[in-house]
Amino acid sequence: MTKSAAVIGAGIGGLATALALHRAGWKVSVRERWPEVVGVGTALGLWPEAQQALISLGLRATVDEQTIPYRDALIRTPAGRTLTALPLARIERTGGAPVRMIARPTLVEALRTALPPGLISTSSPVADPEELRADHDLVVGADGFRSVVRSAYFPGSDVRYLGFVAMRGVTGHEQQGPYGEVWGRGIIAGVTPMEPGRTNWYCALRLPAGTRLDLDELRERLAGWPEPIGAALAATDPDTLLRHDVYDLDHPLRSYVHGNVALIGDAAHVMAPTLGQGACQALIDAAALADCLADDRPVADALVTYDRARRRPTQRLARASRLFGRVMLASGMGGVRNAAIRASAPFAG
Ligand SMILES: Cc1cc2nc3c(=O)[nH]c(=O)nc-3n(C[C@H](O)[C@H](O)[C@H](O)COP(=O)(O)OP(=O)(O)OC[C@H]3O[C@@H](n4cnc5c(N)ncnc54)[C@H](O)[C@@H]3O)c2cc1C
Repeated sequence: MTKSAAVIGAGIGGLATALALHRAGWKVSVRERWPEVVGVGTALGLWPEAQQALISLGLRATVDEQTIPYRDALIRTPAGRTLTALPLARIERTGGAPVRMIARPTLVEALRTALPPGLISTSSPVADPEELRADHDLVVGADGFRSVVRSAYFPGSDVRYLGFVAMRGVTGHEQQGPYGEVWGRGIIAGVTPMEPGRTNWYCALRLPAGTRLDLDELRERLAGWPEPIGAALAATDPDTLLRHDVYDLDHPLRSYVHGNVALIGDAAHVMAPTLGQGACQALIDAAALADCLADDRPVADALVTYDRARRRPTQRLARASRLFGRVMLASGMGGVRNAAIRASAPFAG
């Protein structure tokens, strides 16, 4: 008999899970709280394993045709001195493919349109996931970092503010580089390629949660920093500016599964964006979950395999992302940090 799954949340993780299960022959329904499924945001770096996950979902053309490789990037000081290179060459060598940049709306649209129409219910928030359990073989909590599914079945863990705010934007011009990051004291900024005619930038600032800066204030804080930071900010439409307080979980979860309920993506392991891994891991979770459910085992048994496969690596990455954020955004001892980065060249290709 066809098995059924209810997926809560139509972000990157929920859409990818719905697609993976649909391709495996499951009857899938997705509940999304907002009236539309749209990818808001700038660009994402897809690491090789995340590209493989997309290919396993039938989206090879998206990887081949709608992304661009990100190969050369530096970490510099605000005075323009190069500290080291971002580890892009090493990732390409070990992963067998370069990191590829994709516009977030492009990725979400590719996942959404690969699903049959009518499978996603929008304006349909789930308040009590228990209601879905009785009627479905599987319930997937893909409802992001403030997950109601996590609160319902995985008590004892909550989000905590990591002490910095992320701001992002897109320019209407294609900046030719040099790409990469500039690390100041308690503030970093970065510029990456994105797609023809557009450039992606981001900034992280050590600030109290909820602090609001507008584009002019950000330009002031980054005045005099090496190009292309200034050029990217100057070419940004203030209406496209995004701002997020950055969180992870105060305690890693003891399990990502509970009976026939599984957590994926940020619901399971929200992490600081410092290593650019959250969406990548959500895609890998989705592919792994469908893989584990591919045989005729009882769902709860298959979920135990999913938990074993995904919990440790994602929790390691969440920890590494948090620690890396502390180094990146150190507000004192900047000279010591920079000397250590130069001496150990931790990222050198
Ligand atoms: C500043 C910043 C930069 C980032 N950069 C990168 C990067 O370069 N590379 C990378 O891989 N990752 C990056 N990430 C992380 C990435 O954005 C997330 O990890 C990823 O989007 C998580 O996807 P998700 O589907 O798990 O959660 P979400 O995208 O949060 O989706 C959850 C969905 O569930 C819906 N929902 C929530 N509650 C309910 C409910 N009760 N009922 C119904 N629907 C509900 C929400 O509306 C949403 O659509 C970044 C994150 C930030 C904040």
